[in-house]
Amino acid sequence: MMEAFSPVPPPWTDDAVHSLDFYCPRCGNEANQAQRVWINRQAPVIGENNQQKWQEFYYCECGEVWWAWSNDRPPSELAQREQDNS
Ligand SMILES: [Zn+2]
Repeated sequence: MMEAFSPVPPPWTDDAVHSLDFYCPRCGNEANQAQRVWINRQAPVIGENNQQKWQEFYYCECGEVWWAWSNDRPPSELAQREQDNS
């Protein structure tokens, strides 16, 4: 999905709601169920532990648009599986 790394914010990110737990605030869907994604890599912020974080925007299938900080993202199932196998 090329749009995810576009330098220009897509218009649908305008009305995004901040989600603190990385789920859609309206229906509770996870980020990987979103129909569209945009990652604001142009404007990283230095957070705790001097780690960079950035906003990730998600267009949920319920019509809600929400965003969360990249460092609030829970570990993906795939990463979990790789750890279990090693
Ligand atoms: Zn939703």
